[in-house]
Parts: sequence; structure tokens; C-alpha cells
Amino acid sequence: MIDPMSRRPYIAANWKMNKTASEADEFLDVFLPTQTNEGPEVAICPSYLALGRVAERCAGTPVKSAAQNMYFEDSGAFTGEVSAPMLLDIGVDAVILGHSERRQNFGEIDEALARKVRRAVEAGLQPILCCGETEGERESGDTDSVLSHQVITDLAELHTKDLDKVVIAYEPIWAIGTGKVATLEQAQESIQFIRNLLQTRDPEAAQRVRILYGGSVKPGNAAELMAQPDIDGALVGGAALDPADFGGIVAAAGA
Ligand code: PEP
Repeated sequence: MIDPMSRRPYIAANWKMNKTASEADEFLDVFLPTQTNEGPEVAICPSYLALGRVAERCAGTPVKSAAQNMYFEDSGAFTGEVSAPMLLDIGVDAVILGHSERRQNFGEIDEALARKVRRAVEAGLQPILCCGETEGERESGDTDSVLSHQVITDLAELHTKDLDKVVIAYEPIWAIGTGKVATLEQAQESIQFIRNLLQTRDPEAAQRVRILYGGSVKPGNAAELMAQPDIDGALVGGAALDPADFGGIVAAAGA
């Protein structure tokens, strides 16, 4: 059994469709000087149009840059899509895959995600794979079966030796952008359930995989969430738009 303390905490800012490149610059002017190599791993996930700027500014700093999506093919007739080599070319480190907003609003399906996860890892990008249930699914007792379907299918094409290259974000959909945070017990229980699913692939790698909680994380609730034994960090939406709030969450993870 690997000591949970040996998993380096990971905090990612999902800016969604917010911030122009110049607004990203204003954020980084304040945020970057506060970051050191000592604390958690930190990633900023801006829109594609601000991504080049963020990747350039974060290069050589402790902060990583990440995209909010990518396609699984490298090039070709896929209008509107962006590939792994394109992201790597501008210095991007990671990519969010399967965010619930993409699943719900843009028809993202698990079979495509399985290919995206594999391609990201093969190319050298760190996938931050999102999963989570709706309020109705939780109320009808289907949380575990939804998580199990998403995690098993989305990781199906990944070689087991690469399992610990993936970061997973458990984001109950009813907690995203609603101010309604999962209880500590709900978050720990679902994240432990996800880790147990990974154990069936590779028990040791499952102990190394970072699993984050996402859903209305704020500076005031971050520390208690991250104190749970299986919660290794946070994927943050609304509170990541302000450098002081996001900095507060990063500080809570390093505490
Ligand atoms: C998210 O978008 O991944 C998220 C967790 O958003 P928020 O923190 O605003 O709930």
C-alpha cells in the first residue's frame, strides 16, 4: 500500500469559456509570482485562444498549461478540432477530457474519450479525465454504476502500464457551478470507489493515480476536502477566475 501522502496534490483551473488572452495575462501577472516548486502541481486550462499565451508565460515556471479538450486524430479533415501535436507544439502540458459540459452540451461520448485518453498519453500530454453523475442519478442510487461505466470505458484503450499517467477528476454534475458542494463523505466515498475500480487494472498504479474533486471548490472548503484520504486535489471552475481565490485553493492544498 502506497502512502497517500506520497501523491503530489494537483490543482487545476478550468477557465471554461472565460478570459481573453489579455485577461489571462492580467491573471498571470498576479498569480505566477506567488507560485513556487514546493507546493502542489498546478495547471491553468484556458480557452484555445488564450492557451498559446498561457503556455508561453508558464514555460519555465512551476505552473503548467492545459487545454480543455482535444481530438484523437493528429491531423486531417476535422473542422474545428485541435490535436495533441498542435497542443504540444505550443508547449501545452496537459488536457482536460470528458468534462461534463462537453458530455452534456457537445455530445462527447465515452468511446471517443477512450481514444482521446490513449492518444493524449501516447503523445506525452497528461489527461485530466472527468467523470461524475447527475443529481437524478445520485438520487436513484446509480452513482457507482455511472462512474464505473465512465471510468472503465474511458480508460479501456489505455495500456495498463500508463494508468498512473492519468489524473482523474470526480465532478458530481449537481455540484458544478451551483455552490452546492458534495459532503466530505460523498466526495471521499466516490473517489475511493474510483480508486477501487483502478485497482482491478493495476493495484499499485491505482495507489499512485491522483484523483481530484471538482464542484464548487472555494478557498474556504478546499482544505477539508483535500484532507480526505483519497482526494488528491481539485479541478476548480468559478473560483479559479480570480488569482487570489485560486491562490488560496493552491495554498490550502500545500498546507
Ligand atoms: C468545473 O468546471 O470543472 C467546476 C468544478 O466548476 P465550479 O468550480 O465552478 O463548480
